[in-house]
Amino acid sequence: MEKKLDGKKIAAAITEEVRDGVREMLARGIAPRLDVLLVGDDPASEVYVGSKGRMCEKLGIASTTHRLPAGTGAEEIATLIRRLNEDEAVDGILIQLPLPSHLPTRELLELIDPLKDVDGFHPENIGRLQQGRPRLVPCTPAGIMEMLRREEIPIEGRRAVVIGRSDIVGKPMAMLLMHANATVTICHSRTRDLASITGQAEILIAAAGSMSLIGAEHVSEGTVVVDVGMHRLSDPTRFEELYGSSEKKRAAFERRGSVLTGDVDYMAVAPKASRITPVPGGVGPLTIAMLMHNTLHAARLRREGVDDS
Ligand code: NAP
Repeated sequence: MEKKLDGKKIAAAITEEVRDGVREMLARGIAPRLDVLLVGDDPASEVYVGSKGRMCEKLGIASTTHRLPAGTGAEEIATLIRRLNEDEAVDGILIQLPLPSHLPTRELLELIDPLKDVDGFHPENIGRLQQGRPRLVPCTPAGIMEMLRREEIPIEGRRAVVIGRSDIVGKPMAMLLMHANATVTICHSRTRDLASITGQAEILIAAAGSMSLIGAEHVSEGTVVVDVGMHRLSDPTRFEELYGSSEKKRAAFERRGSVLTGDVDYMAVAPKASRITPVPGGVGPLTIAMLMHNTLHAARLRREGVDDS
């Protein structure tokens, strides 16, 4: 069995299924549609929104990006969200985060109709997840669960450790693993002696947003390691420390002047792990695939009245 967990391949399988689902809806005269709000001109957000739009196009999902200047006021954005909530043609509404700091992110996210909340950040969707009756689930943890399921990695009864307690990744991840009957521990920046806790993990999810936080000393033999972190590494000295022995990475580094890397020191951890996600090509592609999945699911829920209670 290959050790590497190929997120790209799994994401391709998910998007193929979404494409079939979209085709089926289109044949019945229903055109699933995703609307994205992009406020300001953050270059990373531009890239993410661009790739979401291209993926929609590939799968036959209609998409509209609402570009608003950085100085846009909360009331104007609220009006747009209300309009999209009312619009029968819109199935999914996504606010690209982070919003400029003057805007009340939480309040604006709460205005989105929970049935159109394809990011799964609305309190109603979070509450449902906590109650074990998920509807629209945050894309990154949902994608990780999908990967574990498709790769037939057992979860029930196993010790899972999640590093990070954000609303976007850590908390929903822990909740999903718990509902799948893992015994879950959540670590965060105040956790003492991280290695003694992560060393007990049979499944380790690293979502701390701290480059190469997890080294060989943090994992036991046979651990399944999922690296959510995403960082651009451009420091040559650090590059040598992390990837000095990888010719393939070095070629990429020399070509682009940087490489993407994660929260896990892959070269050090991979020999101990039973399965491990790379960065890039691990969790990233799964996240966008699950956004497409959620958009289709939202279209079905609202337009076909699927009962998910
Ligand atoms: P976040 O909101 O910054 O949360 C980070 C969490 O990690 C916090 O709970 C923090 O603890 C904890 N933490 C930070 N340093 C730590 C340390 N040294 N030891 C233990 N815990 C530590 O980040 P996020 O939005 O969850 O994202 C996490 C990472 O995943 C980022 O690198 C992000 O770019 C990446 N990401 C990737 C994808 C993808 O599709 N691949 C999607 C989303 C996010 P406190 O709560 O105590 O501050």
